[in-house]
Amino acid sequence: MQDLYNPYDNVLKVVDNAASILGYEENDYATLRYPERELKVSMPVVMDDGSLKVFEGFRVQHSTVRGPAKGGVRFHPAVNHDEVKALAAWMTFKCAVVNIPYGGGKGGVICNPGELSEREKHSLTAKYTAQIAPLIGPEQDVPAPDVGTNARVMAWMMDQYSMLKGHSVLSCVTGKPIGLGGILGRSEATGRGVMFTVKNLLSKQGRKASESTVAVQGMGNVGSVTAKLLHKEGFKVAAVSDVSGGIYREDGIDVAAVLAYLNENPKNLLADYHEDGVSHISNSELLELDVDVLVPAALENQINASNADRIRARYVVEAANGPTTLEADEILQKRGIMLVPDILANAGGVVVSYFEWVQNIQELCWSEDRVNEELKTIMDTAFEAVWSIAHEKDVTLRTGAYLIAVQRVVEAQKGRGIF
Ligand code: GLU
Repeated sequence: MQDLYNPYDNVLKVVDNAASILGYEENDYATLRYPERELKVSMPVVMDDGSLKVFEGFRVQHSTVRGPAKGGVRFHPAVNHDEVKALAAWMTFKCAVVNIPYGGGKGGVICNPGELSEREKHSLTAKYTAQIAPLIGPEQDVPAPDVGTNARVMAWMMDQYSMLKGHSVLSCVTGKPIGLGGILGRSEATGRGVMFTVKNLLSKQGRKASESTVAVQGMGNVGSVTAKLLHKEGFKVAAVSDVSGGIYREDGIDVAAVLAYLNENPKNLLADYHEDGVSHISNSELLELDVDVLVPAALENQINASNADRIRARYVVEAANGPTTLEADEILQKRGIMLVPDILANAGGVVVSYFEWVQNIQELCWSEDRVNEELKTIMDTAFEAVWSIAHEKDVTLRTGAYLIAVQRVVEAQKGRGIF
């Protein structure tokens, strides 16, 4: 059943639902069903052993109605066309819900970055950038990091794009290293936004951080920063996991010790982590823990029809893109589990990407405090807007977020007209 899961179908159903509540006719939002541009590319790379390997990848621009397409580049073995289409569409609605002047795009390369040497990864990134260069650019489509890519990969992308143009173009990608036009606070921005979201949600419920337990699935950039910041804010982080499985302690794990262990050697996995009182659990056990807040911060399709009945958290805050299927959404709703959707909860990354792009275009530099304050204002404002519309219309927070986002994109499209 899981093999048949198509995340793009999921997106379309959510959009249909929001459009019908908004009273739109099919023609009003028909364009949202079709990505504007889709490019499939192949990249030959000479591997370290002298062999030639051809990698495949994609760049999809779902919408540029509200501004340039914006969205990350994913390096992962499971990347496929429908996934990239869905991820691109989620970016359109994410940028709309937090009201930043972008459309949505996404890229992906089918590869296992952990198995590539730095030289191989550099070569693959440079070739991929050259292949998608006709589509990208500061005013057309601005890539950023996603699963399997990071600031280093963005520096290579910026370099390759600049070489093709004949001069440095800092604003062609975001999430760059600080010395190369990157912005302070970008690497923590998604996790920080998730932390603000968890706090906003719990304060609506009249709950205190110190009385709330959290489980975080995924220890990549987003999961690790979320766990760190929630711990700092006084939450009990009872469990975290990575690809090798999870660790659990009812009273809270020592997040700083776990992160230090993972940082010391990037190949470290939680399966080999030891701390007094900590037990090892599987990823599916983590998802089903009896905690207050569950934060899926890994990949799509983690909470689905086969496990939604067993989720025991009171709240789910989606730090990953698309971690909950539509079927699971309905089951969680019936069971009274409140969920904050990805397009709102994990928007902190693209919000700070937007600040970085603005900073590059204006050739100025913000302090980290200013970045974090402006991020908080945008996340709090968007949360409040979604919360109020969801209560006003008596719908879930996901539907509320899509009501705002779909309306913004459709009204922008109507304003521009179709000719
Ligand atoms: N990959 C991130 C996301 O899914 C960030 C995208 C960006 O900064 O453009 O939201």
